Amino acid sequence: MQLSIVIPLLNEEESLKELYNWIVSVMQSNSYSYEIIFIDDGSTDASWKTISHLSVQDSNVKGIKFNRNYGKSQALHAGFLEAQGDVIITMDADLQDNPEEIPELYNLIQKEHFDLVSGWKKKRYDSVLSKNLPSKLFNAAARKTSGVKLHDFNCGLKAYKKEVVKNIDVYGEMHRYIPVLAKNAGFSNITEKEVQHQARKYGKTKFGMDRFINGFLDLISIWFLSKFGKRPMHLFGALGVLMFFFGFSAAAG
Ligand code: UDP
Ligand code: MG
Repeated sequence: MQLSIVIPLLNEEESLKELYNWIVSVMQSNSYSYEIIFIDDGSTDASWKTISHLSVQDSNVKGIKFNRNYGKSQALHAGFLEAQGDVIITMDADLQDNPEEIPELYNLIQKEHFDLVSGWKKKRYDSVLSKNLPSKLFNAAARKTSGVKLHDFNCGLKAYKKEVVKNIDVYGEMHRYIPVLAKNAGFSNITEKEVQHQARKYGKTKFGMDRFINGFLDLISIWFLSKFGKRPMHLFGALGVLMFFFGFSAAAG
């Protein structure tokens, strides 16, 4: 199988059928062998009904359903475990990511032999204050802490060599930093590709304050991972020193 399209989703009933049709038309016009894996991350709308219909109708479609909302990282993780294609594409379900980009992403992995290609939404259609600015900050911090030079870590549209997704563990809000996880797992042939995208057509973003905070905390985690990932005892060393000083200042104060 050439391609696995992995799609995490939460309450995206309006867009699923349109997204499915669009992906299928791209797959057919390129004669790809493929599967589409929808991971329903605890939707309470009709998303799962649509996915089960599609999977009965079309043997290329697989559905995974979570009994509650675990988060995009967990959904991706479940999709990665299931994926069988040589190249894995992740994309969002809200029609912001454009399936027409898939063939070029596929070629960058298969012909140019990249481990990971990350989509780059150069021009953004999101609100400046709630999305654009935080995203710029996250990206700058992620670049600095990890040494992975990408403009847009968080873009949902990415392509991976199969070995990469089978060797990384995506948890918490770590989906924002998958290229860092990949690099730490020894896959450093990473690039980015400017991709077309659109504003969200239906529903609304699931990015709220809690995700902002968790995203920030996970940023600290990737800093630790990048610094100490290969020498874990150094992490204990650093923590030990920190705890010593906290204990010391508590005793002194
Ligand atoms: N999503 C998910 N679980 C969540 C939150 C979001 O599976 O807890 C999915 C969502 O349905 C979409 C993708 O992750 O397919 C990106 O989410 P969203 O569009 O809300 O993020 P944004 O594009 O605003 O950063
Ligand atoms: Mg979106």
